[in-house]
Amino acid sequence: MTALAHARIPATVDYHQLTDAQQADFDQLMEEADTAGPASYPGLMTSLRLLTGVTGEVRKCACPWSGCGCTTVFDANNPDSLVIEYGDGYNLGRHQCPRCADWHPATDAAGLAA
Ligand SMILES: [Zn+2]
Ligand SMILES: [Zn+2]
Repeated sequence: MTALAHARIPATVDYHQLTDAQQADFDQLMEEADTAGPASYPGLMTSLRLLTGVTGEVRKCACPWSGCGCTTVFDANNPDSLVIEYGDGYNLGRHQCPRCADWHPATDAAGLAA
């Protein structure tokens, strides 16, 4: 890997653009990554990056807005994404994708699903 010479917009992909088989792999890898120890986590993340084309920390949007239904897969290290909940005993936590963080950040309680 070369040094970060250019700041570039990280790739995102919609979960539903993946094939059924890829979605099944994605779900499985995310589940394992959520409880993985430090030895196995990096390999799982690498598999998720290869599967989705998303760089960095691969997350699926956990947007809590009712009716949003966002399934964007994105890099949680993107400064425009929003942490809803840090992982507590888990690795992944919950994050909103940059678009949801912009449109309806989870810090704004109005409109949130009960
Ligand atoms: Zn989203
Ligand atoms: Zn949303």
